[in-house]
Amino acid sequence: MDLSYQMPTQVIFGKGCVKKHGDIFGHHGKKALIVTGKNSARISGALEEVCAALSSVSVSWSVYDEIQPNPCIENVRDAADKARSEKADFIIGIGGGSPMDAAKAVAVLAVNNLADNTLFSGPYEKMPLPVIAVPTTAGTGSEVTPYSILTDMSNKTKKNLSHVTLFPRVAFLDATYTEKLPYEVTVNTAIDALSHSVESILSRKSNAMSTMIALESLRMLGPALGLLDDTLTIDFQTREKLLLGAMLGGMAIAQTGTTVVHAMGYSLTFFNNIDHGKANGLLLCEYLSYVQTHNLKKIAGILDAMGMNSLEELQSLINKQMKPSLTLTDEEISLYTEMALMAKSVENTVPKPTAADIRTLYRKSLGKL
Ligand code: NAP
Ligand code: ZN
Repeated sequence: MDLSYQMPTQVIFGKGCVKKHGDIFGHHGKKALIVTGKNSARISGALEEVCAALSSVSVSWSVYDEIQPNPCIENVRDAADKARSEKADFIIGIGGGSPMDAAKAVAVLAVNNLADNTLFSGPYEKMPLPVIAVPTTAGTGSEVTPYSILTDMSNKTKKNLSHVTLFPRVAFLDATYTEKLPYEVTVNTAIDALSHSVESILSRKSNAMSTMIALESLRMLGPALGLLDDTLTIDFQTREKLLLGAMLGGMAIAQTGTTVVHAMGYSLTFFNNIDHGKANGLLLCEYLSYVQTHNLKKIAGILDAMGMNSLEELQSLINKQMKPSLTLTDEEISLYTEMALMAKSVENTVPKPTAADIRTLYRKSLGKL
């Protein structure tokens, strides 16, 4: 049995974990740059608690709070300039996947002068600065992956910066930080997490270990997703299950990568401004139905772990939670198919889709009826 597994991040989970284990911040240097978005770190209460923990161990800090959703290369270069000028020893990413991914790219660029191409390919002359991740959404699992997904404006797509040195050193997961998430972000990020675990199980690179982790993630996410409703009366236990399920999804894709769903979703985000998780959700069931014709057993196992009996049941849950309304033109479908074929994650898809397959997946998911 292949049980290969690598995930060097120290995970600290639970209510109040930043306060309880604040001394850990002192193990990574004397000056931190906190990388975050406009609001998430403050609304969630995470910024206040991280700053209190830094003070308690005499670490000084400055804040870069201009990370945009789906951060572009220019955005992370700007933050890296601040890391250099502030002489930061380590980077703390607080927020959803966008600030956490940005923190990883900042860690690379703060100590290496790199053109855009080399930023994605390496090699990096100097080791990136250590990163500590504090998620405020339950979705990407970026706190335990070596990936940083950046928007490449000149090529009109998202690109994956992936390097083993980019696993955060420490991840602090406290579901309290997700309690003020709006309903739509809660749903979209949960569906992103679900998509990670599903795609990981179906990836060409999956093994027994990654599959065990991903199935456990689905056992948490499936029922928790069913409980969400727009009154947002989500209890703390469900919030914890979403956060833990998302983290396990991250651990799984850290081993296997994602598949064609993520490759196809990037254009929906870039051109149609659809949130990352929602983009995956819009494509997920047609993808499962494409794989099902080749591997009925695996799809049955995935549905069973989520507590579902059929793909139709999953589709109706996604429809109820996400209320999809996007329709693509034939021109959009042709362009997005070309773009998706360039993404590395297409290679992980079994069976590997042709251009015609991808076009059909877009058409069935989002084409005009
Ligand atoms: P996000 O883009 O980080 O955040 C979405 C929105 O939610 C932002 O407006 C954010 O505000 C807000 N928000 C975050 N936490 C909040 C809170 N606790 N309360 C209220 N509002 C909050 O969304 P995401 O889905 O977590 O991350 C998506 C990004 O991650 C994409 O770029 C995607 O490609 C990437 N991703 C990375 C990996 C990986 O392994 N590295 C995997 C999957 C996806 P602010 O603007 O203030 O931050
Ligand atoms: Zn994702």
